[in-house]
Amino acid sequence: MPQPFPTIAKQKHPLDWSITPNSQALTELAKGIWDCAVQTNQRPLVLLSTAGPLIGVRAALEQHRPKDLPSKIAFLPQVISFADWLEAAPGAWKFPKKQSDLERWLSVYINLRKHPKLKAWFKAESNSGAWGLAQAVIDACDALSELVVPQLQDELNTLLEAHSLDAQAWLKKVELVLDQAVAKAYVGLSRNIVDEESAVLLTFWRYLTSIGDPIIRKHLAMATHLQAAKENAKNSPGTARPFIWVQTADPKPVDQELIDSYLREYAQYATVVRVSLDWQTVALWPEALCGQDAEGEIVIADTSEEQQVERNINSSRHEGWRLLAARRFEELAWVAAKSIESHLVDKKKNIALVAQDRLAARRARALLSRLGNSLRIRDETGWKLSTTRAAAAFDSLLELIRAPKEGPSANVLLEFLQNPYFDLARSLQNSPQVCVDLITQLEDILLASQAKSGWETFIAAIDKANGYASTHGGSPNEQFIKLIQFAKKLHLAWQSPLLECSSAYAQLQNSLEEAGMAQRLEKDAAGKQLLEVLKRFDLSGGPYKDLKMRLPEWLSLLKTVIEEAAYEEAGKEAEATLSILPLSSTRLRGFDAVVVIGCDEQQLPAFSEPPLFFSDALNRYLKSSTITAQYIQQARDLSQLLVTCKSVDLIWQSKSKSGEPLRPSAWIQRLQVVLKKKIPWEVVEVKLKPFEGQSQPIQKSVSIPDLDLRIPTTVSPSAYKALRDCPYRYYVSNLLGLRKVKEFEEGFDASLAGQTLHALLRNFFQALKTEEKKSHSTIHGGSDARRQWMIEHLMKFSDKEFEKLIAGDARILGTLRDWQKQIPSFVDWQLKRENEGWRYHDAELSVGFTLSITDPNGIKQDIRIAGRADRFDIHESDASAAAVIDYKNQKIKKITQRAENILDDPQLLIYARGATENPVEARIPGREVEQAEWVTLRADVKDAEKIVRVHPVEDMPAVMAEFSEQVVNDLNDLWARKPMKAFAPDSVCQYCEARGVCRKGMW
Ligand code: SF4
Repeated sequence: MPQPFPTIAKQKHPLDWSITPNSQALTELAKGIWDCAVQTNQRPLVLLSTAGPLIGVRAALEQHRPKDLPSKIAFLPQVISFADWLEAAPGAWKFPKKQSDLERWLSVYINLRKHPKLKAWFKAESNSGAWGLAQAVIDACDALSELVVPQLQDELNTLLEAHSLDAQAWLKKVELVLDQAVAKAYVGLSRNIVDEESAVLLTFWRYLTSIGDPIIRKHLAMATHLQAAKENAKNSPGTARPFIWVQTADPKPVDQELIDSYLREYAQYATVVRVSLDWQTVALWPEALCGQDAEGEIVIADTSEEQQVERNINSSRHEGWRLLAARRFEELAWVAAKSIESHLVDKKKNIALVAQDRLAARRARALLSRLGNSLRIRDETGWKLSTTRAAAAFDSLLELIRAPKEGPSANVLLEFLQNPYFDLARSLQNSPQVCVDLITQLEDILLASQAKSGWETFIAAIDKANGYASTHGGSPNEQFIKLIQFAKKLHLAWQSPLLECSSAYAQLQNSLEEAGMAQRLEKDAAGKQLLEVLKRFDLSGGPYKDLKMRLPEWLSLLKTVIEEAAYEEAGKEAEATLSILPLSSTRLRGFDAVVVIGCDEQQLPAFSEPPLFFSDALNRYLKSSTITAQYIQQARDLSQLLVTCKSVDLIWQSKSKSGEPLRPSAWIQRLQVVLKKKIPWEVVEVKLKPFEGQSQPIQKSVSIPDLDLRIPTTVSPSAYKALRDCPYRYYVSNLLGLRKVKEFEEGFDASLAGQTLHALLRNFFQALKTEEKKSHSTIHGGSDARRQWMIEHLMKFSDKEFEKLIAGDARILGTLRDWQKQIPSFVDWQLKRENEGWRYHDAELSVGFTLSITDPNGIKQDIRIAGRADRFDIHESDASAAAVIDYKNQKIKKITQRAENILDDPQLLIYARGATENPVEARIPGREVEQAEWVTLRADVKDAEKIVRVHPVEDMPAVMAEFSEQVVNDLNDLWARKPMKAFAPDSVCQYCEARGVCRKGMW
């Protein structure tokens, strides 16, 4: 039976009224508030202890507005949450400035620096861990303040007038209270540990507590509201607005005491009604009915209470409860999504998804997103801003900023450049047309040369690519260098050892502006909120503006603050709304249907993380929230939800990750036991229906090139090798042009070193040729002098070529040193070669030959087989002899294996035939290549006597004849579009990019 609203007379104490938290609760409350308005002929002020039911209460008031109200009370009573009411305190502008969370963290930081004892305690923490701990310290200090500040109400009142506070006396009281708390809670524990912990916390409390703390501001705000009521009662008697306090959730004991004494005082100046919730006919478990006693223990229910609970269960709307079990996580989310869909089909408009299991709720949300705009999803569980695209883009900038002074890794750089908020055209001050594909091309360049990190490495890679383009008929693109320089400038601006907090913020804004990110973030909903969060770092006008910290500390603080921030989705009109919320947010709210996901024994009830510094017993002493209080509150919230809502789906995962069976929450099991006596409440096992089909064994992949598929008329040595290795691979990579997305490999890649060695050898031999022309050069002073000159200069050339790479990645120094150990023996090999009459002639020349093929249509096709030879030598005494050399940055053993399969990898044969057939192109007119050799740049130099530097192609005329016949056959088959089969030894398949296409391993 609903309790009638009390009759208001001239009481000087709060009137108590309770409502039943069932489906009629809001109606009952609204009627009571209107009753109060009518009785007092004043517009009541209604304060809700939690903000959740705010809209529901206003709507109910509107709906139940009595007819023919006097004009004075015709307006809707003012309904406001407690937090908003505190903010609206009269004269709040006079209060000490409110400290933001960031400022409080910074004060922890400053105190850590000032006090070595505290620093030692924090020593083990990383930057981000330290900021997390700072938050825990602040929470603990607030818990202490909550206990202590009410005892200081008189001092606070004085403070209101005098703006001063005897902090020392205050601290003494706190110390006393904490000592008592510690003594009571930690009896039996080692005094040392307890003492250290409490001493550290007290020290923090002493240093951190300021009148800008939220707890102290709360008390100041309450005191000013009271003062205003007092003055109003004095100046205009009989006009005080009734004050209705609605206790929507069980308060912490410390808050209960505070609000009780406040209401008592307020009742001296105005009508005060305290509205509480009556669980008598709603509680579905004894703990929800009886609550806790003064000692914080659950009250044991007597027989009549147990009978009452049973009556409540039996009279509840249990026909609308469904108990659904899913075995796996995916099924769990799927069941939730399906339940919500079925409610939507039943035309339910206002649905709640209670996220006991947040992960599964997120997954269900993702599954529901396919319903599009017809369903509006409001996530009240706090969608983190850090999970948005805008925050990820911003993070890419922070990663660039925090890179070491040599420069970022290529991945970090590309991540930043590819973020969708980076405005390339603006950054380069160029037109968007010029910038098309620029970043993709840059990525290709860096990948091709495996330039993994460092500004100098990136520039060297671009120089090489530009150099290659200019010598091969392309045009070098200066925009690459401009782009790297832009990013480098952005990065270098952050390279000071210590940052001043205020200038760091200005600098960050600058960086965002320069990269065009500020403008783009401004146009995006999440971006806008991100920029708002960043504004908190504008400390220019505050006490921390000169605070200095190291860049990693500042960046970590920035990331922690963003991590804490929630993203608020913009509302949009839709046919139905799904609210994803925690159980506590369902209080006094009406929904057409509710789906609770995660109702297993591990997640329902769910307890908040225990405070880092206080045990549950100490919390109890400090009158904070305890596990028992949370347990009772959740039992009440769930009772209210089940009793209020017509349709509730309780879903749980019946198997844990480790495969162990999981039962539903004990609360659900207890309901099952009671309901069993009447009608069984069955669990519905939900299973995804498997799709059935018959598979056929996969056969070896074979493809016949389509007639429309263009076959390239130029074949490089590597393409020909691919064709020989596996025709299917050639089909995938060369005919279809499919490429695997390249990645930067771990560790330093040898290909960049290989390219550098090739370049420095070319430069060295060209310099040698020039030197030989100088008649007075020391090079003409005998073989020792020539050897000396060669070693010295090859060393110098090596240092110079590698210099930039080492600046970008110091690990490359090892590669240089390894190569420099090779130089003496390399020079010896060169001298030996010279003694045999061979002279270096030219390097890196493009050579090839042309074959004529007739395709199936009878059309003659000229196929050019060509590549770039590393080096040509000519013979001094034989005017018709030339040799081709291929440098290999490989051990001689690998080269020997290569030589054994020369017909499948005929690179040297292609150069030799190309140069012989086109001597002018190879710049050896009148000569024929009669010698072809591989030269290792990684010979084993441990034993000077056994060094093997070179491996020649043996029996070249015979091999060449065989190759010439083979290549014609291969190309004829290709142009005849014969089936191209996947076939290769595992050694080839191991590194094959087409493996995913040919499905080797499945057949
Ligand atoms: S994985 Fe082996 S069989 Fe398959 S395409 Fe590559 S090389 Fe050929």
